[in-house]
Amino acid sequence: MILVTGMSGYIGSHTALALLNAGREIIGFDNFYNSTAEAVEAVKKLSGKDFPFYTADLRDPDSMEKIFKENNIDAVIHFAGLKAVGESVAKPLLYYENNISGTVNLLKLMEKYGVKRLVFSSSATVYGEPKTVPIKEDFPNSTTNPYGSTKLYIEGILKDVCVSDKDFSVALLRYFNPIGAHESGLIGENPNGIPNNLMPRICQTAKGIMKELTVFGDDYPTPDGTGVRDYIHVCDLADGHLAALNKIEKESGVHIYNLGTGKGYSVYDLIRTFASVNNVDVPYKVCPRRAGDVPVVYADPTKAKEELGWEAKRELEDMCKSSWDFVKDK
Ligand code: NAD
Ligand code: UDP
Repeated sequence: MILVTGMSGYIGSHTALALLNAGREIIGFDNFYNSTAEAVEAVKKLSGKDFPFYTADLRDPDSMEKIFKENNIDAVIHFAGLKAVGESVAKPLLYYENNISGTVNLLKLMEKYGVKRLVFSSSATVYGEPKTVPIKEDFPNSTTNPYGSTKLYIEGILKDVCVSDKDFSVALLRYFNPIGAHESGLIGENPNGIPNNLMPRICQTAKGIMKELTVFGDDYPTPDGTGVRDYIHVCDLADGHLAALNKIEKESGVHIYNLGTGKGYSVYDLIRTFASVNNVDVPYKVCPRRAGDVPVVYADPTKAKEELGWEAKRELEDMCKSSWDFVKDK
């Protein structure tokens, strides 16, 4: 069975559904810090399958140990973590404790129960400000905020575990910018509180919750002056986890992959495409650059294609439409 941490979250719920649809058995857990049990019910409904789900916390090993005791776990897909860059600057200790100590707690239980396979949610943030694009997996790493540092430290910890135990296998998946939602409209990105990322903010603006979107800078060295990112559909990302799991089930050691499309879109591309496919207005105003933002980030996803046989298939139009379908009536 596959243990999915952070299962009721945005990427966790889509990946859980993909695993169940592929005939895998799963167990989920979450502490509902940034999600609700609705996503768990939706995954059960969409897959037509039941699975054990626990309310547990990475920081509370006893709550997790119950899961290891009661189930026969073969591998872990580890999504649980805090992910807001701004909050991590304000509350670094919360991030280090939750993400790093929490992962160490999980790894100690994996060691105790002989579980030696883990897929980890890393991020393109570990490339810092890349000197060139597209970004390859062997580019240098650096971080500009505590959130990014937690990802880089955890990558290092997992590499050390693989050195200490030659049977251990890990996939470090460096996600680019996940957006979009499952076509059913039943699961999607539903953050608690005020969102930080571009797509949820576009959605809130289209709904009138935010009066206008703030475009963080139109003076970047990019074709239209706004920041460029590699937006990837969350369902493509979910499929990438299945491919990575298949890989680490066959081969031990550390396997690092960029999960992106290889295409860069600007803030204006997103606003324009979203407004046009959904036939809604997205009023915006241009503001100064956001501190710490990098002008252009997009992946070279060749390694994942060659070694995992995985590539992103869905287009920006699908991403914009499905994001809106999920939130418009909420
Ligand atoms: P999310 O917030 O929707 O999901 C994370 C889940 O983990 C939430 O349901 C949250 O309640 C849970 N969680 C947090 N701390 C926990 C703890 N101590 N114990 C148990 N559960 C806990 O975020 P997401 O977008 O689905 O991201 C999943 C993972 O992918 C995270 O590790 C994130 O850092 C990483 N990631 C996300 C993005 C992105 O843009 N969404 C990009 C790169 C990497
Ligand atoms: N962005 C923006 N307005 C917002 C949120 C984001 O202009 O309200 C821009 C941001 O400057 C970046 C892009 O959108 O160029 C993606 O930002 P996001 O926070 O979604 O992802 P990340 O910065 O982590 O790549």
